[in-house]
Amino acid sequence: MPEVRTRFAPSPTGGLHLGGVRTALFSFLYAKNHGGEFILRIEDTDQSRYVKGAEEYIQDCLAWCGLTPDESPTHGGKYGPYRQSERKEIYRKYAEQLIASGHAYYAFDTTEELDILRSEAKNENTHAVFQVDASTRKKLKNSLSRSEEEVNAWLAEGKPYVIRIKMPENEIITFEDMIRGEISNESNLVDDKVLLKADGMPTYHLAVVVDDYLMKITHAFRGEEWLPSAPVHIKLWEYLGWKDEMPKWAHLPLILKPDGNGKLSKRDGERLGFPVFAMNWLDPIKGELAVGFKELGFVPEAFVNMLAMLGWHSGEEKELFNLQELISLFNIERVHKAGAKFDFDKAKWYNHEWIKQLPATRLSKDVVQVLSSVQVEAQEDDRLNRIIDNVKERCTLLTDFALQSAYFFESPKEIELDAIKPKWNSDKYSFFIQIVENWSQVTNWNAAELENTFKELASLMNIKVGELQMPFRVMLVGGKFGPSVFFISELIGKEESIIRINHVLRLLKTEL
Ligand code: GLU
Repeated sequence: MPEVRTRFAPSPTGGLHLGGVRTALFSFLYAKNHGGEFILRIEDTDQSRYVKGAEEYIQDCLAWCGLTPDESPTHGGKYGPYRQSERKEIYRKYAEQLIASGHAYYAFDTTEELDILRSEAKNENTHAVFQVDASTRKKLKNSLSRSEEEVNAWLAEGKPYVIRIKMPENEIITFEDMIRGEISNESNLVDDKVLLKADGMPTYHLAVVVDDYLMKITHAFRGEEWLPSAPVHIKLWEYLGWKDEMPKWAHLPLILKPDGNGKLSKRDGERLGFPVFAMNWLDPIKGELAVGFKELGFVPEAFVNMLAMLGWHSGEEKELFNLQELISLFNIERVHKAGAKFDFDKAKWYNHEWIKQLPATRLSKDVVQVLSSVQVEAQEDDRLNRIIDNVKERCTLLTDFALQSAYFFESPKEIELDAIKPKWNSDKYSFFIQIVENWSQVTNWNAAELENTFKELASLMNIKVGELQMPFRVMLVGGKFGPSVFFISELIGKEESIIRINHVLRLLKTEL
């Protein structure tokens, strides 16, 4: 058995959609589950769709998800270069080999001429699509319809041409897909696709086959939108004489919109208020920013876990898996054929679960960043780790740490007095005046000591502890949220606790 080699082969045309990351993930998991290699190949032969910055962005997204390629444009490898635009010279010889073996031909029709034929076909029948194939190629200008002399003369004078595959007539093209089983297509329904363009660049169809062959790819994972192209690729593998080395195919089901049918699009995300890209993508042409899962506050552990479960099932009850567990459990037979509906609430559930289970030391760097985005300066230290451990269960997104932990570093800017006012009275006022007095004497400032003294005084003054904790919380935090008030008080220290109590007591004085 040859070593398993899978690839992720994106075109650098924009932000990386959820579906793209999932293709990369499944490809990675399959390779790693088999002890094989995962390759990143940048498919940038279509210069008209090339977007600056998109390649770096793809690499950053993979790095964020922990899907490190074994070979890539930046990691190198023995089958490089891994950027198709740098492999331009490689492809022509294969296109010419196909011409020599009679499986491809020179086509000289201009775009304008083909457009006229397309609109004529439409005029005759609105559903008709003009296709270059066995039934039409004889009427077109190519090396199959014209004499050798004429074609040679055109080539010699430099008349622009493309090279097209000659799809067979009346053939059923069949292949085995790892997810869908046997798939058959009628060759007559498939276009004679362009393989080499007039500028000498290969199209995706030629480049993907040549590169999968030269890079010794054993399993090719891609989205199901590529199924219609599969018959062209199958024939190319055969015509180039490489049929026995053809990778096994896996066409992954689509990620569907949460409401209705069809593929989840960027527009659905905008409409329903959630991201569809892994990371922030700033479109350099339109200048529009699409917010990514990362920046919204997802941890990569949750993002990857959630993606893995979109269209795959471990067979176990358990839903939380880290990347190592996913690698060992991944099984292509458990990938569903049907599309998976995206569910943002479920995605957030994964994030919440992951934030709860990740150690504070893993989250501290992110929390420092979140706090700094709201102008709160924090250090990665034991104090921050204790804060994180105490508030993380209240955070669904990393960004929630701003609200949930900023008050450990600075006094709350706004105080929800309305939460206290209705039940405020002079007994409670006296209680807090007295507790400030008592606590000024405390030398052993810790949560247990504070709780004891707080409760003792409450019982002495005959006030229910519950009635006092809420106002105390609002004094420390500014609102009705947060972990144990005594823990908060311990962490912010004696001086700051007393300042915050006194400040609110002053504000409330007028209420009595
Ligand atoms: N370059 C194609 C894309 O952008 C990849 C298709 C494939 O993996 O074969 O999706």
